Amino acid sequence: MGCGGKGDPGALVRLAADGGGRVLLDAGRRLGGRGAWLHPDPACLARAVRRRALPRALRREGLAVDERELGRALTGIGRRD
Ligand SMILES: [Zn+2]
Repeated sequence: MGCGGKGDPGALVRLAADGGGRVLLDAGRRLGGRGAWLHPDPACLARAVRRRALPRALRREGLAVDERELGRALTGIGRRD
């Protein structure tokens, strides 16, 4: 999902919603439920938000997406360990 661009699936990061409907970066892949996979790139996140891809991927309405905070978190990841 996200930008729809292809690329190494191993390079994607997982976003998931917590119990309060906040979308978080699930760096440790510990959050349950559905996940949305994005490139670790704020532009990819922005595109997903604009396309309303997150509520669709996570099957949740009314999700709170803090684009700035998430964008920072994505930038910080950059690579997988
Ligand atoms: Zn992307």
